[in-house]
Amino acid sequence: MAVVARASLLSPTILSSNFKNSLSSTLLAISNTRRRYVHVNASVSDLNSTSSSPILNSESKIDRWKPTCLYYTQGKCAKMDDPAHLETFNHDCLKGLHIDGVEVKRVRSQNFDYLLVLDLEGKVEILEFPVVMINARTMEYVDFFHRFVRPAKMTEERVQEYIAGKYGKMGVDRVWHGTAVTFKEVLPQFESWMAGHHLLKSEQCGALIGAAFVTCGNWDLKTKVPQQCSVSNVKLPSYFMEWINLKDIYLNFYKRRATGMRTMMKELDIPLVGNHHLGIDDSKNIARVLQRMLADGAVMQITARRSFRSPQNVEFLFENRIR
Ligand SMILES: [Zn+2]
Repeated sequence: MAVVARASLLSPTILSSNFKNSLSSTLLAISNTRRRYVHVNASVSDLNSTSSSPILNSESKIDRWKPTCLYYTQGKCAKMDDPAHLETFNHDCLKGLHIDGVEVKRVRSQNFDYLLVLDLEGKVEILEFPVVMINARTMEYVDFFHRFVRPAKMTEERVQEYIAGKYGKMGVDRVWHGTAVTFKEVLPQFESWMAGHHLLKSEQCGALIGAAFVTCGNWDLKTKVPQQCSVSNVKLPSYFMEWINLKDIYLNFYKRRATGMRTMMKELDIPLVGNHHLGIDDSKNIARVLQRMLADGAVMQITARRSFRSPQNVEFLFENRIR
């Protein structure tokens, strides 16, 4: 690989506001003994603080925050033996998803072994396909799958414009151009990844076994994936036929409406980590909301299901839902 990853670089302003948020969240977590979920504030843990008291030492270590290597997240980092690269970029995707063992005791019996948090990016065509896998019973992060996706029916000029507008401001347009593959290529790679975790009934287009997708809203699986399948001329795979809309679970569990990820995070005092609208970061943030909800005793259930006979029809299974 000739280019050096300029991955998810945060501006000093964002970094410092993230740091402030996580600092106040740590203070909250410490002062709030009722809620012992110390979702170890990820920005401070990102600073590689080894101190048992992160608040005391982390300020001097702000400059040690590392952007995630987005070649690595896609299995394409060719610099894993380069100390300078490892010093500059984070290659530990568990960061920000650590859990407090005490909270696991409150997790209720679940219908699934694994939950796959999916948060697509791209309005015209899918540009990013990130999945974060969480163990539903222990709340632990298990693995992730991440690909940047190249549009199928767009001129090169339009792609350049689209990517500059979407990822340029995050500084990840170069890694996008260097790694993106078509949706048609992503699907079999994703299926191999799922098969490796024994999540599929059969390797090709089977339904999920003991697992369910978790999305923030219905858009990803109700609208975007079928649209992209049509544009890319592939059949809608069976594993995308049903999903859990976390906002509907949230509404029915906490009895309050949340319009999006940021609202849920704000209400649950979980600081936002990374770049909002970078799919892999949003998926991790949604996964952290999911972990908190599991710790609070929420039970994950399918909220929407596509009819196998007429796949264009989606049935919503909760009476109270976000419309
Ligand atoms: Zn790397």
